[in-house]
Amino acid sequence: MYDALLKARLICAGAVTLEIKLPPGYVCRDPAGPHGAQRTVFLEFGKHRVKLGIGKSAFRVVGENGKFFLFEEDKKLMAVNFLKPVYHAPEMAFFNLLPWCKYRCSFCNLPHEGQNDVRIEKYLGLVRKRAEDIRSIAVTSGVGGDGVDVILLREFVEKARKELAVPVGVEPFVTRKEEIDILHNAGATEIKINIHSFDRKVLQRVCPAFLRDTRSLLEHAVKVFGEGRVTTNVLVGLGEGEEILFQGLETLASTGVIANLRFVHGLSSLSPPALLRIAEEQKRVLKRFGLNPGMETMCLRCRSCDIVAGWDV
Ligand code: SF4
Repeated sequence: MYDALLKARLICAGAVTLEIKLPPGYVCRDPAGPHGAQRTVFLEFGKHRVKLGIGKSAFRVVGENGKFFLFEEDKKLMAVNFLKPVYHAPEMAFFNLLPWCKYRCSFCNLPHEGQNDVRIEKYLGLVRKRAEDIRSIAVTSGVGGDGVDVILLREFVEKARKELAVPVGVEPFVTRKEEIDILHNAGATEIKINIHSFDRKVLQRVCPAFLRDTRSLLEHAVKVFGEGRVTTNVLVGLGEGEEILFQGLETLASTGVIANLRFVHGLSSLSPPALLRIAEEQKRVLKRFGLNPGMETMCLRCRSCDIVAGWDV
């Protein structure tokens, strides 16, 4: 439990100061994900791993006799390792195909305009290059016009499945059940359909584009992909009522959906023990509905940005 609390504290801090020089390949610089355009690293201690921005922080990593140690201010906490990402995540190739989005969610820093001429071949080339290190593939996209994002995701999944025999997860912005079928038929093995919050006031404030009928979409996704193969981001600490949150986690689990609890840097206001408490409640809920919290792709496989019920707690 001590280590889980440390992970929660690191997530809430969001950054670590590096007093060392890492070899090439350990620093991530991709624009998507909860750390935005920051340079990031993956720290590992015990069974926990955490992705942190590199910058000013009370937490710092120091090198001593060929080992790395995590300090909080002047207090030495423990030895840590660094994990080398493949593309965006350890052991995974996770791509964002369309690097712009027509929506303006306050937790996302993709630009709001861009081109649709994405070269899928470029991403397949990257997969080929690191094939030996890749255990799973995941793919998402900003939301363009006329369903271009789902078209791109489908093309990528179809081709990636031929390229490498590993599970492929998709994180699309879907509004129709047919889009779920299209991605499943293309060969996707898991899907994330974000609801972000059960609290409509939070959605209205943070990401109004997500005020849609996600319940029927998630139910359909479970029918198509299977129980435990559907996930959704649930943002925590944005002022949502605890009762609404816990009831929502229960509804998701009863549908066969595993929530990915996400603390949003700069927006969430939640203490580390409170973050752990939510994850512990989710663990109880998943157990009650007989859901195995592990997934093969995306964030519940990577386990670096969130407290993952069934793994960290
Ligand atoms: S947990 Fe998700 S968002 Fe974070 S690095 Fe891993 S795949 Fe990316």
